[in-house]
Amino acid sequence: MILKVVKYGHPVLRKKGTRIETVTPTVKALIADMFETMYDARGIGLAAQQIGEAVQLTVIDVRGVTDRPSTLEIEGEEKDPGEFMPLVLLNPEVKPVGDHAIGPEGCLSFPEIFADIKRPESVEVTALNEKGKKITFRCGGLLARAVQHETDHLNGILFIDRMDSESKSELKPELEALQAETKADLKKQR
Ligand code: ZN
Repeated sequence: MILKVVKYGHPVLRKKGTRIETVTPTVKALIADMFETMYDARGIGLAAQQIGEAVQLTVIDVRGVTDRPSTLEIEGEEKDPGEFMPLVLLNPEVKPVGDHAIGPEGCLSFPEIFADIKRPESVEVTALNEKGKKITFRCGGLLARAVQHETDHLNGILFIDRMDSESKSELKPELEALQAETKADLKKQR
């Protein structure tokens, strides 16, 4: 089932997700719906907050983007990131490794708004997967950016919080318009 993606201005985007300790049938169904929703919107990542659920669950698939490479290492061994997709992360913990990189980012909760964001180039990730099994990996490039962007969502942090002040002030009119539109929609629903 394709779910509605909530937009900037919705309070759920600012909620820290509660941890998921067991992959119940409800969680499984949510994962399936989130993938369907993400692929439909042509995104490469979607966090539970974006479909209105404040839980620590995100789905990622970077295969849709071919011009921005990713790297992946599991237990010190290089792997093909494509074979690791689609990726489900529950309760992810992300540790930066190495230098920062600047790259373009967008977000399904901010339609048509893009900015360059500075983030660690590589990260070490620990999480549970869709089977509830603990996984650990190190990634770089686009996958590292996606993992960090989505993990931020799970903690109520948005990519506008990571923008430099110049980009943020340039985008201010669009951001305010989007926020106002979302709040007006919420009022109508009440
Ligand atoms: Zn996002």
